[in-house]
Amino acid sequence: MAPTGNGFFDEQETMSADARRVHADAQVRWIVEHAYRHAPGVRSRMDAAGVGPEEIRGLDDLSRIPITSKDDLIRLQRESPPFGGFCTVPPNRLGTLTMSPGPTYNSPGNDASYRRRIQKAFFGCGLRPGDILQNAFSYHVSPMGLLLDTPLREYGVAMVPMGGGNKQLQVQVMKDLGVTAFTGTATFLLEILQTAEEMGIDPRRQLALRLAVTPLDHGVMRIIEKDYGIRVTEFYGTADVGIVAYNCEARSGMHVCDEAIVEIVDMNSGQPVGPGEVGRVVVTPLDSTLPLVRYAPGDLSSWNVEPCLCGRTAIRLNPLAGWIGQAVKMRGMFVHPYQLAGVVALHPGMGRYTLICRTVDRKDHLTLRYEAPEDPAGTARDRSLAIHFKELCRLNLDGVERVNPGGLPADVKVLMDERPQGAK
Ligand SMILES: [Zn+2]
Repeated sequence: MAPTGNGFFDEQETMSADARRVHADAQVRWIVEHAYRHAPGVRSRMDAAGVGPEEIRGLDDLSRIPITSKDDLIRLQRESPPFGGFCTVPPNRLGTLTMSPGPTYNSPGNDASYRRRIQKAFFGCGLRPGDILQNAFSYHVSPMGLLLDTPLREYGVAMVPMGGGNKQLQVQVMKDLGVTAFTGTATFLLEILQTAEEMGIDPRRQLALRLAVTPLDHGVMRIIEKDYGIRVTEFYGTADVGIVAYNCEARSGMHVCDEAIVEIVDMNSGQPVGPGEVGRVVVTPLDSTLPLVRYAPGDLSSWNVEPCLCGRTAIRLNPLAGWIGQAVKMRGMFVHPYQLAGVVALHPGMGRYTLICRTVDRKDHLTLRYEAPEDPAGTARDRSLAIHFKELCRLNLDGVERVNPGGLPADVKVLMDERPQGAK
């Protein structure tokens, strides 16, 4: 389980493109076959879609299996508690039973592949055996604290199971135990460091903290690095599947763990999108006890397929572009705020903007309303907005309206759904 000593956790991280493909195809065949055979929830979803495990020969066939969204998982778990048919063993064989917001029930870390993912991610983020790690994720009912605890102790760090809250105690423990690494949210770490200063402790001189490993939180991460000289690295994961991607020393996106299959698919068609295109993140963890085949936690991201300076060959996830729950379905197509932001970015000089969806003649009627000073070139801009809206959102606008600066409320929603209930 120890790192290879040459800067990588294991040989898998530097597999050639061909070897990576063979590896991924074999993993897909194994997890689909295993899940179909032992997880009744996966079997019934595949049966309903008319696809058998023998038809899934590799990564390219995976999109034939229906996606399970977070909402689907909540519903399925309610219909068939506790795991919605996604668990391959009786619950009393699982070491830990946890619950995350939704609610959904989960059971972190039963599988060696799951634990290895966490070790590999934290190694990539800069954690080393011998570090003293303060774990400020909750240990109470929710999975995050425990999800990291066992794998990282196995990896060789000394764990301080702090959980959240009590900032003064967090500071005291950090100082007294010579804590070298922290995991928790970046926002909470910033509060701890500020509390230390209020207590008369200089974090730079009196704490041994050198590294923080956090879920995505860019703005705060930069403040911590600049003001306190602590390196901050990020991982991506969810309570239901654990960690699936991580920073390396280059920090230019997050490498996908070799122990999970991650797809980025079109919000509407569900088909894989190309590099740089934003789509839904779909995860298939190689977890033999909870094989959530094609699980979509709700996040949107895109691929970075350029070679990474660190030498790892796994493709990277770009910072998340948003959350599928922010999208509104109009004329049967999802429209997401990031798409509108893309349209507006091409037209300098615009202020606030909103896309209004109403029902006119029993059809969805779309109007883009935006703030800008009156301008002779305004008509050309309106035409250009309509053209780019069609390109980026794949829908026609019915109207474009300019209003004077200040004409829209300061808290105007980017997507305004004014359709009556039942018309959506
Ligand atoms: Zn890298």
